[in-house]
Amino acid sequence: MKYYSTRDKSKSHPFNLADAAFAGLAPDGGLFMPERIPVVDMARVETEAAKSYADMACYLAGLLFDDVPAADLERVVRDAYDFPIELHHIAENYSTLELFHGPTYAFKDFGARFMGRMVGLLNNGGPLTILTATSGDTGSAVAHGFYDVEGVRVVILYPEGKVSPLQEAQMTTLGKNIYPLGVKGNFDDCQRLVKAMFCNEELRSQVRITSANSINLLRWIPQSFYYFYGYCAWKSTTGRDMPVVVVPSGNYGNLTAGMLARSMGLPIKGFVAASNANDVVPKFLLTEKYYPRASVRTLANAMDVGDPSNFERMMALCGGDVAALKGAVKGFSCSDDEILAAINEIYERYDYLSDPHSAVGYLASKHYGVDGFWLSTAHAAKFSEVTKAATMQDAPLPDKLSAMLDKQRSFEPMEAEDGALVDYLRRL
Ligand SMILES: *Cc1c(COP(=O)(O)O)cnc(C)c1O
Repeated sequence: MKYYSTRDKSKSHPFNLADAAFAGLAPDGGLFMPERIPVVDMARVETEAAKSYADMACYLAGLLFDDVPAADLERVVRDAYDFPIELHHIAENYSTLELFHGPTYAFKDFGARFMGRMVGLLNNGGPLTILTATSGDTGSAVAHGFYDVEGVRVVILYPEGKVSPLQEAQMTTLGKNIYPLGVKGNFDDCQRLVKAMFCNEELRSQVRITSANSINLLRWIPQSFYYFYGYCAWKSTTGRDMPVVVVPSGNYGNLTAGMLARSMGLPIKGFVAASNANDVVPKFLLTEKYYPRASVRTLANAMDVGDPSNFERMMALCGGDVAALKGAVKGFSCSDDEILAAINEIYERYDYLSDPHSAVGYLASKHYGVDGFWLSTAHAAKFSEVTKAATMQDAPLPDKLSAMLDKQRSFEPMEAEDGALVDYLRRL
C-alpha cells in the first residue's frame, strides 16, 4: 500500500508507510490517505470481534498496512489494545461506545498507542526523538502511547503551572523514555519552541526529531477500527442493523476515521457531527460554505477547533461530492449551558456520569432520535470540575488515575528560549 497527500490529485508522489508516518503532514501541506480503500469481509469482522478487539484489529490493520509483516503487525496490535472497550446501554434507545478505558482515559489512546508501537517498529535509523508541545491532554496521550517503546524518546513541552494536576501527573510520573519539560511560559511559547527546532537544520542534522500530532496517518487509521467493533456489539445486543453513529468532534480525525470504515464496507447508515459552539462543519453541512474561524473556548475544550485539519480528509473521502457527504453526515452544535444541562439530565434520569464531550454526543442523539450509538470520548473524572458543576457529584477517580496523583513527579524546568532547548536535545 502506498499513501498519497490529499492535495496530490494526480497521485504523482507516492509515499511508503514509514516516510508518510515520519513526515506527519505531507510536504505539500495535505494529509496522507491510503492509495485505495480496501474492502472488508464483514462476516470475518464479526467472527474476529466476537473473539476480542485485538483479533478484529489485527484483521483490519492487515488490510490497511499490507506491507508490514503480519507477525509484526499482530505484536503491535495486541500490545496496543490491552484495555477494555464497552458498548454501554444507558437506557432504551440510548447506547454509547465507551472509548475511555485506556491508560489516559480518553479515546486518543486508540490512535496514540498504535502509533507509538508502529513507529518503534518502522524506525531503523537509530534513536528517534518525538518532540511535542501540549496544553495538557495531547502530551499525556503521546507520552503513554510511546512509553517504553524501544529506540524512541519523547520530549514533551508543557507550560509549567498551567496544566491541571491530573494532566501534569500523567506526563511527569512515567519516567523511562519520557522526558517532560516544564516551560516557563505559556502554551504558545511551547509551540514556538517546537517549531523552531523543526526549522533548525543544524540541529536536525545531529538529532533525529519527528512529531506525533493527531493528523499523522498512524494515529488516524486505527481510529477506524472501533467503529467496526461498536457496530458488532450494537448489532449483537440489539438485533438491529445499520446504526447511525454520533461523533463528538473537534479536529474531525475521529469522524473521518468513521467515514473510512464506512467506505471499507461497514454497514452504518451515517454519522452525526456533534460539535460545541465551534460549528464550522455543521454550518458547512447546511450552507455548503466553509468559513474557518478562531476557536472559542467551551466546557468541552478538546473540541475547541475553529479550522479542523481533517476537513480535507472529509472531502477526500466523499470524492468531493458534497451532496453525498450531506446524505451521510448530519451536523449538530450546542452551547455550554446545554452541555451542563445534558450532563445533569443523564445523571438524574439514567444515573450515569458523563464528561462534557460525550454529553454533546448524547444531546445530538436525542436531537435526531438516533437509532444507533454515540461515542464517549473521555472519562467523566478527567473533567470532574464540569461534571461536578452540573450534577453536584464527584466523579469517582479510577484507581490508576488516583495512584498516579500520588506518584513522585519529575520534570526538567526550561526557559522559553530556543538555545536552552537546543542544548537539552543535544545532551539527551
Ligand atoms: C480530541 C478529543 C475530541 C475531538 O476529537 P477529534 O478527532 O479532534 O474530532 C473529543 N473529545 C475528547 C475528549 C478529545 O480528547
